Amino acid sequence: MRGEIDTLWGQLQQALSELDHVVVYVGANGSEQAIAHAAKLPASKVTFVGCTCGLPYKESMVRSAGLASARRVVCECGGHRTMGRIFTRFMETGELLPSS
Ligand SMILES: [Zn+2]
Repeated sequence: MRGEIDTLWGQLQQALSELDHVVVYVGANGSEQAIAHAAKLPASKVTFVGCTCGLPYKESMVRSAGLASARRVVCECGGHRTMGRIFTRFMETGELLPSS
């Protein structure tokens, strides 16, 4: 599993400069790598989605990656419903999130 994820990150990284925006789910554990990869993009191109469990720790990771100004979306634990909603909205409208 870990190896597969590394491979996917490698592929994503090559495409990163061509991406308009990335949505990163921040779970309670194991999000350090995702955040580190996201940090290769400007904060304006990054949205973090996560539940409030361990929020101070998540915030400190985001801040130390230099992404303090990235957009945050608070979601339910696990994030499946919210990530699904973001995906569906994007497929239907081309909009990532409701503008605010
Ligand atoms: Zn939670």
